Amino acid sequence: MALQVRNLTRDYPTRSGTLSVLRGVDLTLDPGQSLAIMGPSGSGKSTLLYIIGTLDTPTAGSVRLDGTDPFALPEREFAAFRNRSVGFVFQDHHLLPQCTVLENVLIPTLVGTDDPAAVKDRAIKLLDRVGLSARLDHRPAELSGGERQRVAVARALIHRPALLLADEPTGNLDRTSGRAVGVLLLEVAREENAILVAVTHSAELAGTFPRTLLMDDGKLVDP
Ligand code: ADP
Repeated sequence: MALQVRNLTRDYPTRSGTLSVLRGVDLTLDPGQSLAIMGPSGSGKSTLLYIIGTLDTPTAGSVRLDGTDPFALPEREFAAFRNRSVGFVFQDHHLLPQCTVLENVLIPTLVGTDDPAAVKDRAIKLLDRVGLSARLDHRPAELSGGERQRVAVARALIHRPALLLADEPTGNLDRTSGRAVGVLLLEVAREENAILVAVTHSAELAGTFPRTLLMDDGKLVDP
């Protein structure tokens, strides 16, 4: 399930003309590979991540996952692609406060035809993997910031996505929790043979990744 991004561009029309945020991004990642993307605020890092994750659309160029261009899929398959192939971890955990930890991890499985017993078993295993097996019935408010982000990581992985995408995953955490969440993301991505792409301002987080690229003038370049 290799990810291939070719000559990707993204323009935003603005009142003062066209803003060319991405100006020809090329990227190839194989399963199990991890990449950190750094760069100044407003340079287009999140835009790239969201297009790779099909939350935004490119102006031109292509994204392919194992040869499939998600933007060429019919609407239903496109939605299924996003739900199945992409796991997102955001800066804010986006957990539902009224749901337990276990229910939060199961939320992506509510639309679909999964075997309920099998997905529950997987959710419990994932929560054990992220160190929260004693917290299945807790609500997000009863957890620390780092623990909430661990739940978000487990939720992102519930469908064994080919792509694990993280936008400032440690941005709201203290240094120790941030480091632990960074290590966890790298480890679980490797265990699941997923492609991990993380956008971050944290040189410390990027430093733990095997590879870092910089967003510079709308392109990805070596630092
Ligand atoms: P980064 O993640 O590197 O901080 P972003 O990808 O969030 O940067 O944003 C890149 C640029 O695109 C910014 O200048 C931002 O203002 C602009 N931008 C993002 N989304 C939109 C939009 N929907 N309409 C117009 N401009 C946008």
